[in-house]
Amino acid sequence: MPHLDTLGRPLRNLRISVTDRCNLRCQYCMPEDEYVWLPREHLLHFEEISSLADVFTELGVDKVRLTGGEPLLRRDLPALVRMLAAKPAIRDLAMTTNGVLLAEQAQALYEAGLHRVSVSLDTLQPERFRRLTRRDDLARALRGIEAVGRAGFKGLKLDSVVMRGTNDDELVDLIEYGKKVSAEVRFIEYMDVGGATLWSMDKVFPRTAILERLEGHYGRIQPVIEESSAPADRFRLPDGTVFGIISSTTAPFCRSCDRSRLTADGMWYLCLYAKDGTDLRGPLRRGASKAELKALIAPIWHKRADRGAEERLALGSRSPLVQIGELRQDPHLEMHTRGG
Ligand code: SAM
Ligand code: SF4
Ligand code: SF4
Repeated sequence: MPHLDTLGRPLRNLRISVTDRCNLRCQYCMPEDEYVWLPREHLLHFEEISSLADVFTELGVDKVRLTGGEPLLRRDLPALVRMLAAKPAIRDLAMTTNGVLLAEQAQALYEAGLHRVSVSLDTLQPERFRRLTRRDDLARALRGIEAVGRAGFKGLKLDSVVMRGTNDDELVDLIEYGKKVSAEVRFIEYMDVGGATLWSMDKVFPRTAILERLEGHYGRIQPVIEESSAPADRFRLPDGTVFGIISSTTAPFCRSCDRSRLTADGMWYLCLYAKDGTDLRGPLRRGASKAELKALIAPIWHKRADRGAEERLALGSRSPLVQIGELRQDPHLEMHTRGG
């Protein structure tokens, strides 16, 4: 029997952040000059992540996504991938990366058993990339993207956060680039999550505007009809190209959300917007058995009622969720710690 929360949503999808460090400073995620990092001695070892993955799969998780911070900064990531890929209960093992270090690592990750890769890419213009991420690494990110198919991966996705006045003029270019590298592009609405201290509603480029802009260029767009708990609604262009929109800000999808997240230091969060999580590192390091960890986790899921993005939408007038002072007190509130 699946473990269901109060809204009947199963515990199925676990995002594992392997580090809170990042080699980019994206404006919508890490716009500040200084950050408080998780203490290194708190970071879970691969064996600990693997043990927790076993606990979660026994509770019904069958989809795991590695994320960060930037997951490719975690030393010897293929070793962790190998451990997770060896678990038959994990049917889908994916990773989200900014791509900068991917050209060097794609082959090793594929050989270790990683199933799928999503790369975040918001612009194809070098100067804009530099402004958006405060690093001059577009060429490396593109080389990373181009290495994915060569390494043997199928089903590459490119995730683009669309910001009004920043990159909303690149939707067509991104779709065309996606075609070139055989990737499905997914446009993500700018979210007011922890870390997005510069967020404001007028910088959100909503799903309706994305569709209008693309329809203006390509002609009639058809929705792809499918049953899924995936956050992206998918659409088809007249030439058959499929793309997605993740409208977490203007049309959230909390009703079907089966995701939870484990931070690199072993805190478990049920919602991207949740202020509090559950410490799993403590019990694990004190020697809790698998049964004890299951007994800790299951009732928390059963009580889950989170609808963070829907509640934010209902507020009407909005400002960033968390102010910088609070983020400095608790880095777990950061998107780069939660992993998205
Ligand atoms: N560093 C990796 C990357 O960028 O792909 C993985 C971690 S990053 C936190 C995961 C995803 O969160 C990225 O696709 C990023 O674009 C997205 N993200 C971060 N801040 C966001 C925001 N304010 N609104 C929407 N998406 C955001
Ligand atoms: Fe950008 Fe990802 Fe790093 Fe955040 S964690 S700054 S989204 S690359
Ligand atoms: Fe799931 Fe929370 Fe995001 Fe809603 S806001 S989709 S409940 S993680």
